[in-house]
Amino acid sequence: MGALHAGHARLIERAGQSLAGCSPPRVLVSIFVNPLQFGPNEDFERYPRDLEADADLAAAAGAHALFAPTLDEMYPEGAEGLTRVQPPLPLQASLCGITRPGHFDGVATVVCRLFALVRPDRAFFGEKDWQQLLILRRVVADLGLPIALRGVATVREGDGLARSSRNRYLDSDHRRAAAALPGALRDARAAHGRGVCEAELLIGGVSAALERSGLAVDYVQLVEAHTLRPLRRVQGLALLAAAVHCGPSRLIDHVFLMSRPPIVAIDGPAGAGKSTVTRAFARQLGLVYLDTGAMYRAVTWWVQRQGADPGDAAAVAPWLEGLDLRLEAGPDGEQRVSVNGHEVTGAIRSPEVTAAVSAVAAHACVREALTRQQQALGERGGLVAEGRDIGTAVFPDAECKVFLTATVAERARRRARDLAERGFPVPSLAELEAQIAERDRLDSTREVAPLRQAEDAAELVTDGMAIEAVIEALVALFRERVPEEAWPGAQRDSA
Ligand code: C5P
Repeated sequence: MGALHAGHARLIERAGQSLAGCSPPRVLVSIFVNPLQFGPNEDFERYPRDLEADADLAAAAGAHALFAPTLDEMYPEGAEGLTRVQPPLPLQASLCGITRPGHFDGVATVVCRLFALVRPDRAFFGEKDWQQLLILRRVVADLGLPIALRGVATVREGDGLARSSRNRYLDSDHRRAAAALPGALRDARAAHGRGVCEAELLIGGVSAALERSGLAVDYVQLVEAHTLRPLRRVQGLALLAAAVHCGPSRLIDHVFLMSRPPIVAIDGPAGAGKSTVTRAFARQLGLVYLDTGAMYRAVTWWVQRQGADPGDAAAVAPWLEGLDLRLEAGPDGEQRVSVNGHEVTGAIRSPEVTAAVSAVAAHACVREALTRQQQALGERGGLVAEGRDIGTAVFPDAECKVFLTATVAERARRRARDLAERGFPVPSLAELEAQIAERDRLDSTREVAPLRQAEDAAELVTDGMAIEAVIEALVALFRERVPEEAWPGAQRDSA
């Protein structure tokens, strides 16, 4: 809506950094003070408007164009009787949806119209207005709009106050008092870090601190971050959000509270290219990388070395007793594997191991032992695990689940390349396709924890996608589930 500040500049910069794949590669900033999203007693008339300054700031941040339509251009038929977009009511049943009735209809309506006029590939919104971002994601999904929404972490002043155009209304006394809002939320996050999880205690602490500072509380709520349903205690990803009146301004802010760092589950069939992209994704987001297939391979290698029949559970079971299976991160980020003191990182990729691993992985005793070890590794969170049953059996409560797949033909081509690079003999494509199809069949028809897409997993079909594009798609899926503010990742934006 204009009155641009450093928070908007960050959005513009981010758009500029992500132009790959956009056509044409241009950043456009829209500025329109939208009457539809203001209530009758709100600040539509006095909302700050300064197009000259906005144009300067947008250009300095890297914008190529400014779109500042008039009211007539935006709503030629007038605002009365206009087609309206009504976002799902449950997403409006808490936080600002209660005290600003009609606000999100107005936001969704204007954003859809702006999207239709501008036809962007991507659109950037601040995480500061988390409820708005969540609602717009739903609108885009429900209407099938071909636009990727990106959220960007809140930019703050030195004393923690979130940047907002409405901060301009504050005189110096109110400006000082306003810092109590982020302060109270920060204190609540610290309390949560010390083990305080009850909504009543967290909300009570924030409300009391706000009132002590002379701020009039509109709401303080603890809600589940994606459904916005009230929580009684912190569970998964929670949003502790507050709105206050501070002199002439209504200010909102929030903190995310997580019961543990995030877990990402990446499942999919053999040869879908999971390892390469998952490793890069882990590095980018500062998560520990766990390749569970390597664990099944290491057990297979060990069993074969003992001369046991991989297809016979009774012959395999004794070799699981006291099994010392270790995973370590190598210098290149690759996972190094050893089993009972033998370094097997390279050996477990041999065609012999590959041919027998699905049979070994189907045994209940093997699954039980390795699932237990994987869950222990993931207990404290902060990891991305790839395999076949991560989202369904190992970490069913993972924050982000992706089913990464590709056609058999595509996977056979990739496998041929991979074998050649590793110096193994390369069978014909037809033979590789048959092997891959057979592993798919074994993995998805076994009794315990078969390969299947978790109900809440996003499917990513990677045929024809370059590795960088798959990584980018994974990061975007992660960011839909875990905001930057909750888990900034390794490449913290210093801008
Ligand atoms: O991913 P990769 O090809 O290394 O996996 C080897 C095999 O290990 C798979 O084909 C599957 O049989 C088994 N596996 C599994 N569950 C996992 C990971 C791998 O059953 N979570």
